[in-house]
Amino acid sequence: MEITGSMLLSSIEHRTTTDPVWQQMCQRLQAATSLTHLVLAAWQIGLWLARAIVEQQLDERSQVPTQWTHCSVCCTALHSKGFVKRRMLTLVGEIEWKRRIGRCPHHCSGSHQTPLDEILGIQAYQQTSLELVRLGCLLAVFLPFDLASQLLLQLTGIAVSGDTIWN
Ligand SMILES: [Zn+2]
Repeated sequence: MEITGSMLLSSIEHRTTTDPVWQQMCQRLQAATSLTHLVLAAWQIGLWLARAIVEQQLDERSQVPTQWTHCSVCCTALHSKGFVKRRMLTLVGEIEWKRRIGRCPHHCSGSHQTPLDEILGIQAYQQTSLELVRLGCLLAVFLPFDLASQLLLQLTGIAVSGDTIWN
């Protein structure tokens, strides 16, 4: 099913009614007097919207029926074990979604599969999304690690220590 712009907006509008952070951000926007505070308040709302769009898309994609492959050990077709939560720190903040995990019914070791993770190009224990890693590395090329960390915090609201950027 193709999603239209208005469908996307109405599904995100639904989130604004249930998320207390949205109300706080709107109050901060209203209370802002200087242009700087106005821009920063709007920037935070923009990041919130970007997170909502990413999570909406992931929720939608996780609902698509999964074609399970076969166990690499005993060749039995994998079974779905249901939906399991996943979190990731990204350029637009921390996002959370659920996706199906499959496993061999004979419990063969190493038979776990998460097809959506594979499609998304993320690794099993990955906690930071690549575009955020890339931006952190790029900043660190030009700036001392602590300054890169401060700039990242200002731009995205994400607290990443200088040590983490160094790593
Ligand atoms: Zn097996």
